[in-house]
Amino acid sequence: MALGEFDLIARYFKRPVARAALGVGDDCALLRLTPGQQLAVSTDLLVEGRHFLSTVAPERLGHKALAVNLSDLAAAGASPLAFTLSLSMPRAEERFLEPFAQGLLALAEAHGIELVGGDTTGGPVLCIGITVMGEVPPGQALLRSGARVGDEIWVSGSLGDARLALEAFRGSLSLPGEAFEQVRRAMECPSPRVALGLALRGLASAAIDLSDGLLGDLGHVLRASGVGAELAWEALPRSAILGVQSEAWQRACLLTGGDDYELLFTAPAAHHHQVLSSATMVQTPVHCVGQIVAAERGLVVTQNGAALDLQGLSAFDHFKS
Ligand code: ADP
Ligand code: MG
Repeated sequence: MALGEFDLIARYFKRPVARAALGVGDDCALLRLTPGQQLAVSTDLLVEGRHFLSTVAPERLGHKALAVNLSDLAAAGASPLAFTLSLSMPRAEERFLEPFAQGLLALAEAHGIELVGGDTTGGPVLCIGITVMGEVPPGQALLRSGARVGDEIWVSGSLGDARLALEAFRGSLSLPGEAFEQVRRAMECPSPRVALGLALRGLASAAIDLSDGLLGDLGHVLRASGVGAELAWEALPRSAILGVQSEAWQRACLLTGGDDYELLFTAPAAHHHQVLSSATMVQTPVHCVGQIVAAERGLVVTQNGAALDLQGLSAFDHFKS
């Protein structure tokens, strides 16, 4: 059944709000801000065929669309507050909208973030634009620009499974059923590291979320901070499934994978144990994978002490791939 714009908004996206003063239904939403906090804002646009495959289950797509945005708040060390949802789609179908809203709103509830508005329109392909808003005390937001020589480099979780799933979908490699389901879950259902981001306030010197691949995203931190980095290949955390793939696939997935939505952060070496205990408190695995060095040394990945040849490996670029 095709629904009208206002019916579908009322049915799927109008929900009572508690933190916001006014949610969906008027010309503007009204947010209650904690006095003295800064508002952290981030937007991500997901386009069918480019950011997700049309084979993804709508519930997972709803989850992922919000997850990638929450991941940006996590990387800034911001606490989630509210979000808007802009949808462009060829048809308004219940069998898509119902599970999509369910996946989206379940993740929203888990993170205490409220849907307060948006826009809905017909269009040639499914596009999902979400803007998230969060709060952070002045001076405490985690930025890309704070890494200093001598800092340790950390990543949360494990890397590369989402890329492995994408390659399996493309038919470039094949995985046994169970393994495929697990990496597919990593690709379609990432868990934003919001609690870790909050735990790293005052502890991390810089942070970014890994959306476009480790080398590219670390490169953003290095440029913003005016430093270089040395990563240890052996230390990069990978799943048992990725760990048994060929060296070439491991390199592609770990170094340039994309869609990981893990946090990469730097912290002074003196904070090493505090980083570990703070991460344990929020039940998020973290691994120290290298250190920040002088800018002249660039970005090096070492394996058994020798630098890997990174030629031919490049970050995911949505205008190129
Ligand atoms: P406007 O004419 O001001 O653009 P709309 O008629 O598009 O308003 O939307 C009506 C109300 O529904 C607004 O409060 C808007 O924020 C909300 N809304 C529209 N689309 C969505 C959506 N996809 N998710 C959440 N709220 C939405
Ligand atoms: Mg509108």
